[in-house]
Amino acid sequence: MDALLVLDELAEPEVGILRAGGRPPSPGSARLGAPAQYELDLGGEQDDERQPERHPLLQGVDEQPREHEHQRGQPHDELHAAAADHSATVRGRARSRVARVPATVMDGKALAAEIRAGVAREVAELGHVGLATVLVGDDPASHVYISLKQKAATEAGIDARDVRLPEDASEEEVLALVAELNRDDEVDGILVQLPLPGQIDEARVTGAVSPPKDVDGIHPVNAGYLYLGTPLHVPATPAGCMELLAAHGVDPAGKEAVVIGRSEIVGRPVAMLLLQANATVTMCHSKTADLAAEVRRADIVVAAVGVPGIVTREMVKPGAAVLDVGLTRTEEGIRGDVDPAVAEVAGYLTPMPGGTGPMTIALLLRSAVRAARYRRGILAYPIL
Ligand code: NAP
Repeated sequence: MDALLVLDELAEPEVGILRAGGRPPSPGSARLGAPAQYELDLGGEQDDERQPERHPLLQGVDEQPREHEHQRGQPHDELHAAAADHSATVRGRARSRVARVPATVMDGKALAAEIRAGVAREVAELGHVGLATVLVGDDPASHVYISLKQKAATEAGIDARDVRLPEDASEEEVLALVAELNRDDEVDGILVQLPLPGQIDEARVTGAVSPPKDVDGIHPVNAGYLYLGTPLHVPATPAGCMELLAAHGVDPAGKEAVVIGRSEIVGRPVAMLLLQANATVTMCHSKTADLAAEVRRADIVVAAVGVPGIVTREMVKPGAAVLDVGLTRTEEGIRGDVDPAVAEVAGYLTPMPGGTGPMTIALLLRSAVRAARYRRGILAYPIL
């Protein structure tokens, strides 16, 4: 992922109530979990042919009849039952001056801000939380990532240490640095930014981080406990996905969840978290025979592939909650794995940018607080 893409992803999403005329948006209208859809207030009597302003999620998407309509405040389960005829489209709605767009936008930026504020309070209560980030080499995207993580950590009151090694650092040097940070009492959490330069074995390095300090949740001990259904440190992006679902009242229990992608940092751990939350989980990958058929069954879809638009409108079950993790920079700009037209059928959808990306940083900070609690014995970490 390159630097520009990273910055794009963290840009302020446009969310809330959009109005094509009349009153300006009311402050605070982009609350989590409400409204249940975007409202396009057309302001006054409108001609039937007038086209309303479109939500950014729908930019570039042809207007099509919708398959269902959500009622404000309706629980997610009922949204499926509410899948109904959508002949009352934006044109028809013009007479009543309000048009509804189905998918609730799962605003990661807003939720991340809440989580970061909570982290700041917890850090103040603990008195000191130390996070060391390790960056090896010159990868521009990694430099941007580390800067963002450092900035966010500092803003939350975390004692953030920015440790850097040159591109030609040897594996032994990196391992020696990790060992030093493991011993350092001022350091509660350690994050080694990946990828590492080619001469360094990533698994050896991530496996050398003391498990209670492994805020990325990728040490085999932490991955193993997640697999066993008793998670300790969990990778930040999957944890962010679960927070987004919870914040919008989407309970995975009893739902069909389809995860596309099986990486150690996103696909596998999010599948484990969904399983732990009692979803029936299917994991898809590049060898999956019929991806569309798998996704079509899903009440919850997590797309973590890196192939723009791989999840299309036709693949998504009406009312499904769709989390777009994939990020690709194209000539047209940043693209997620989810085609924007999915907003016309999904019940819930993360925006791109402004969805899963900001949540990743927020949940990393929360992991640092958790690491501090493990180290102080406030939370129990198994004796290794
Ligand atoms: P990764 O390690 O490259 O994994 C990609 C996964 O997608 C693999 O499991 C691969 O299957 C699968 N895949 C590839 N082509 C496919 C296809 N045509 N159909 C179905 N599955 C396919 O990537 P990652 O680290 O998990 O990241 C995935 C995406 O998320 C990237 O775009 C990355 O930039 C983005 N990301 C975003 C955030 C965030 O905060 N939003 C955080 C991390 C990553 P195989 O296993 O069979 O190869």
